[in-house]
Amino acid sequence: MSDTSQSTGPDLHALFGIDGEHATGAEPVVALDRDGGGVGADPGARGVGAPGLDPFEVDDTHGAPAITPEGGVEAHPDFAPIEHEGALDGSPPAGHSGDESAHQDSASAGDAGQWSGITRPSRRGSSQRFLTDVIVDMGIAARGQVEEALETSRIAGTTAERVLLDKNIINQDGLARALAERYGLDHLDLGVFSVDMSAANLVTTAIAKRYQAVPVAFSDKRTLLVAMADPSNVLAVDDIAIMTGYEVRVAVAPPDDIAALISRLDRLEEAVGESGSQFGQDDEEDEVVDLHESSEDAPVIKLVNQIVAQAVEQGASDIHLAPDGHETRVRFRVDGVLADVTTVPRKMAAGVVSRVKIMAELNIAEKRLPQDGRVGLVVDGRHIDLRVVTMPSVHGEGLVMRVLDKASVVVEMDKLGMADAERERFEAACHETHGAVLVTGPTGSGKSTTLYGALKLLNTPEKNIITVEDPVEYEMAGLTQVQVAAKVGLTFAAGLRAIVRADPDVIMVGEIRDRETAQIAVESALTGHLVLSTLHTNDAPSAITRLIEMGVEPFLVASALECVVAQRLARMLCPNCKRRTIIPAQVLRDSGYKAHVELEAYEPVGCRRCGGSGYRGRVGLYEVMQISPEIQKMALERQPSEAIRDVAVAQGMTRLRDDGLMKVRQGRTSITEITRVVGHN
Ligand SMILES: [Zn+2]
Repeated sequence: MSDTSQSTGPDLHALFGIDGEHATGAEPVVALDRDGGGVGADPGARGVGAPGLDPFEVDDTHGAPAITPEGGVEAHPDFAPIEHEGALDGSPPAGHSGDESAHQDSASAGDAGQWSGITRPSRRGSSQRFLTDVIVDMGIAARGQVEEALETSRIAGTTAERVLLDKNIINQDGLARALAERYGLDHLDLGVFSVDMSAANLVTTAIAKRYQAVPVAFSDKRTLLVAMADPSNVLAVDDIAIMTGYEVRVAVAPPDDIAALISRLDRLEEAVGESGSQFGQDDEEDEVVDLHESSEDAPVIKLVNQIVAQAVEQGASDIHLAPDGHETRVRFRVDGVLADVTTVPRKMAAGVVSRVKIMAELNIAEKRLPQDGRVGLVVDGRHIDLRVVTMPSVHGEGLVMRVLDKASVVVEMDKLGMADAERERFEAACHETHGAVLVTGPTGSGKSTTLYGALKLLNTPEKNIITVEDPVEYEMAGLTQVQVAAKVGLTFAAGLRAIVRADPDVIMVGEIRDRETAQIAVESALTGHLVLSTLHTNDAPSAITRLIEMGVEPFLVASALECVVAQRLARMLCPNCKRRTIIPAQVLRDSGYKAHVELEAYEPVGCRRCGGSGYRGRVGLYEVMQISPEIQKMALERQPSEAIRDVAVAQGMTRLRDDGLMKVRQGRTSITEITRVVGHN
């Protein structure tokens, strides 16, 4: 058995299971005598102050050497007097030293945090009880059934729990929970627990399969949290400790869940492949990336592939690699919310960043200046484009990858979540032969989805539809789509000027962000074209003032604009776990609503289907403003957007926040989510 970690002195970081800055002393300081205590000592002898919750046992969790498998552990787990080192206090991983609380309750499922899906045992350390007694005490099976199973197992030469499983009296998860309790270990719900790819990559698939064990997180700088089906498999624990160079803290999960995790890890690695075609007219950019170029880079390539595949699988819109001075944090933006996913150890971080830069054909030697590029990939058979931006920071080079998943762009108007009245107004405007229809909102608010929805509606053979986009997010048959290429001078404005000469009926400009584009778009709308575009404004009325601020004459704005849609995306409540709640009137008032009565609605809970977040998917919030003669007049008078808003509301416009409240009442989202997305007023 390995004795690798025995000689190391006490490391406060490791002892606390947290980074220095988190060592707030909130954990009771009990004893530092870990060397004297030695692994394998009676757990009852330590943890002086807080039996069962001894924070200092964290460091003993290499576990492997500690386990003394007296008496045929594998065959008779019930009788193995294993000192399975309590050790596991459920501290958050040291790697996530950013904004996470060091004392986040790992058992709570409220957050989609790293530590959702852990159930701690009632006490740490091996309980020296029979597993069958634990099963009875936990209410997993009745005493009588267990007695019967014990009898049967004696005759059949098997174990009582095997008999209970075979008779379907208990299931695998019940057994896993009992095993965890029996050995004083954490139980993992792998359906909820978010697995750290960097940890999982430390063992090969073959080893993981052989031992039914997968590292799922870094418990601290030196310790891996390893999900195991059979916690009494001391050889496995030992081997994994030697192989990875980390100490091992064991948690129990059902064998089926572990097998599913292993095949998912396999699939994620295989999922990312070479890209065929790519949009853009630049042939150089179409070069296919060889994802398996050098064997010495294999672990780095594997990790990058898994990160990308996992991001696509979770529907992430962005992947962030952010160095924090110690490691590099990997964060995904899913449904508009950024969350930590994994941590790349320092020694691999530079390789990972270089790998992505190579894929995106950036200069890997240049680390001080931001660069941007893109790469086309096939992930799980889907064509994905990654737009890569490097970010030199004081802690080193980081990067952000925007994931463009062409298949994920919804283009059916009726699936956008726009209420009927709003949709009618928007569609009516889109069916005009001329005028401008603008969609506004911040980045990531789904503006292009709305525009594609409109284009799909308008896409008939008798119409010539030309777009200029950056990037072309979705290719639609029947359209002429032009990709902006600033490097060769093809800007929005230049593209738009060319389009106007090509006899279009409908023009879509990806975004109006400068005066020149605004001017041409407005002029085109006034000369017999329907112009669709987007603007960055917070609400619909501000589109008018923004265009005027950009330098377009108010009378042109007033006569060109047909309709403005402002939008946001709010996360939808997970239908599987959302819970009925009553929102007090005060809370509504705090959120900026003039409420006198409470509201019956739903709140997020978190379950395995939504990864513990309580939300799945997103719904659009819309504010559709028709340009009435009154509003035209206000534009001419350069009235402020608040005044225009009041008139628009009086004329029937539902404000974003009110559309949000409606979706809360419909049970599609929560009041906190609406407040997060649209603010308090
Ligand atoms: Zn759920």
